[in-house]
Amino acid sequence: MSTESAPDVGTLYIVATPIGNLADISQRGLQILQQVAVIAAEDTRHSKGLLDHYRISARLLSLHDHNEAQRAQQLLVKLQQGLDIALISDAGTPLISDPGYHLVNLCRSQGIRVVPIPGACALIAALCASGLPTDQFAFYGFLPVKEMARREQLSRLKNAKGTAVFYEAPRRILDTVLLLIEEVGEDRTLVLAKELTKTFETFKKGPAAEVATWLQADPVHQKGEFVLMVGPGEEESGKMPDEAINLLMSLTKELPLKKAAAITASHYGLKKNALYQLGLQLQ
Ligand code: SAM
Repeated sequence: MSTESAPDVGTLYIVATPIGNLADISQRGLQILQQVAVIAAEDTRHSKGLLDHYRISARLLSLHDHNEAQRAQQLLVKLQQGLDIALISDAGTPLISDPGYHLVNLCRSQGIRVVPIPGACALIAALCASGLPTDQFAFYGFLPVKEMARREQLSRLKNAKGTAVFYEAPRRILDTVLLLIEEVGEDRTLVLAKELTKTFETFKKGPAAEVATWLQADPVHQKGEFVLMVGPGEEESGKMPDEAINLLMSLTKELPLKKAAAITASHYGLKKNALYQLGLQLQ
């Protein structure tokens, strides 16, 4: 079956918009927004500001979490009548922790052509500049609000192979980092990407304990938009030098594992938690 829709049927364009810097929109994205009959937007007032900036006057219709199922049906009728439609969200790429899934799914199931117009996305912007592994990563969107569920999700990162990426609200960023320390250890490498593409864009990278201290050092550090990235678990345990393992095991004969891991870590410049975990496995 062809994935192309019939010529007299409209196309749904998924258009990425900026996440801060208004120059971050593609020429093709602007062209499409100028051409389409209707722009479906998460918050029409917010998007009106953006469209005014680019001098684009198009009919705006709201499509958000609370009306998406019904709105998707209405937009489908318009597409079937031959109108082209663009979907945008408040910032970045629609459907990435933003509405649009029902609409795209419906359009695909009805043979409507869906065309992505790529551009800004906080997840990708943060990851590519983080210095964390990018060959394997998992994106989790926002963590659950309830503490038990958050804890449970974070605890699953203990032995995660790739980089884990989260979106987080400023009012929860410190709590989340403190929970991470409890669940995966204070030595785990974290990167906070804050206010991406904006004037005060900041990357803070370091062991979880250091990142928590930085957040607590100044209330300004906890303000703004955040992407939180968690480096892979146990990344170094496989590469631990034999001398370090020997020292660790000798020390554990006389000392508690935690103390032995701390001494070995500082002697060889290794991660305390990685040595501790290795000690647990070897004991
Ligand atoms: N669809 C968007 C995208 O493509 O990135 C994400 C929408 S989601 C509702 C909003 C969250 O994305 C924010 O709470 C924040 O975690 C992250 N975010 C968006 N813009 C950001 C920015 N400029 N800097 C850092 N994080 C950002």
